[in-house]
Amino acid sequence: MSKKIQAVRGMRDILPEQTPLWQFLEDRARAVLEGYGYREIRLPIVEMTDLFKRSIGEVTDIVEKEMYTFDDRNGDSLTLRPEGTAGCVRAGIENGLLHNQAPRLWYQGPMFRHERPQKGRYRQFHQIGVEAYGLPGPDIDLEVILLSARLWKALGLDQLELQLNTLGLAQERAAYREKLVAYLGSRVRALDEDSRNRLHANPLRVLDSKHPDMAEVIAEAPILLDHLGSESMAHFDWIRGNLDDLGVQYRVNPRLVRGLDYYSRSVFEWVTTRLGAQGTVCAGGRYDGLVEQLGGRAVPAVGFALGIERLIALLEEAYGDSLAKDPLAYLLLAGEQAQARGLQIAEQLRDQVPGLRLQVHCGGGGFKGQFKKADKSGARFALILGAEELKRGVCGVKPLRTDEQQQEVALDALADFLKNQTR
Ligand code: ATP
Ligand code: MG
Repeated sequence: MSKKIQAVRGMRDILPEQTPLWQFLEDRARAVLEGYGYREIRLPIVEMTDLFKRSIGEVTDIVEKEMYTFDDRNGDSLTLRPEGTAGCVRAGIENGLLHNQAPRLWYQGPMFRHERPQKGRYRQFHQIGVEAYGLPGPDIDLEVILLSARLWKALGLDQLELQLNTLGLAQERAAYREKLVAYLGSRVRALDEDSRNRLHANPLRVLDSKHPDMAEVIAEAPILLDHLGSESMAHFDWIRGNLDDLGVQYRVNPRLVRGLDYYSRSVFEWVTTRLGAQGTVCAGGRYDGLVEQLGGRAVPAVGFALGIERLIALLEEAYGDSLAKDPLAYLLLAGEQAQARGLQIAEQLRDQVPGLRLQVHCGGGGFKGQFKKADKSGARFALILGAEELKRGVCGVKPLRTDEQQQEVALDALADFLKNQTR
């Protein structure tokens, strides 16, 4: 027997019960982003493999073992995007968006990483990404953090902790890197395999290891913050001072390094304790080196990406199914005459009542079965139309969610009746 066809492991259907939460998040996010002057960019899901190798870095989990890479029919190596920043920079360079302008861009969509699927970690997952180009000062770092904070407020989410750190500049990291390599070298037997491999190629990433055995080694490692120059510290202190003035709570986490190589100076994460090990819902920072690394002129950049699935899990706790957009009314139709007239009347009602959510019963059947469907639809009212009602030019209106009595409304007053209910 042939193998049963199923969704690919780690790639989930987002079912109708869940989509109201997604739409809520997407709507609120778009409104907040527009409020800060960000414009949406839509990017391909597939890019050339080299784009990710060059931007994310060869010695990273993503490039080493998480990418969905394949040869297309011409033999070109292509990859399903594991993140959005690389493609956004590529598009910015290719379309001349980064010349003499400071575009603020956002995008959303699926990302693909071949990770071990678990709660909050999937192989197809979704991000909203935010990127601001051409601005070297700490003002924009601060603003993207404020934007993210406003988004949590707009979503009604509290209990997210802002963690901040600074990675300084590449030359400052070089001195620290030597110390770190020496330290890690002295503890080499305590390192897990990945960390041992990274020891020389990319030692800072060892600090980002999630391996439980690594916690102690990491905790005792020298601290990058102690090795930064005055300019980097001033950049960091300016952001901190302003967060203090604005009353935005944060914690400096000197162990916070981002998994990707292209960050410099500010890095931040928003973390919750409610999702187990997958607690980071949003991560970002400054990545001044990337545009040049991908062949453009040197253009400073700041951005972040939020993990939609993890936020949805929080929204689900907070809202359950209360965001569902149930129909206002479900129209029951008894008899052949009502069936045809009902669809006409429904069309008129939709013309007359902007935003009306009206579900018309199709498929016939008796009133009893139709009432069951009306109830299941979540509609507030059942509208009842049979030959008798049609003859008298009325419609029965039965509230389905309260004990109120059924009443009759004249057909030509029905639009006003429904308008009053939607307000
Ligand atoms: P993690 O440390 O959890 O693996 P990351 O550092 O790999 O995260 P980023 O590349 O910074 O994650 O992506 C930004 C956000 O996207 C993460 O903070 C998280 O919310 C979300 N995210 C990343 N990978 C996944 C995944 N496999 N499934 C679901 N969400 C994810
Ligand atoms: Mg990861």
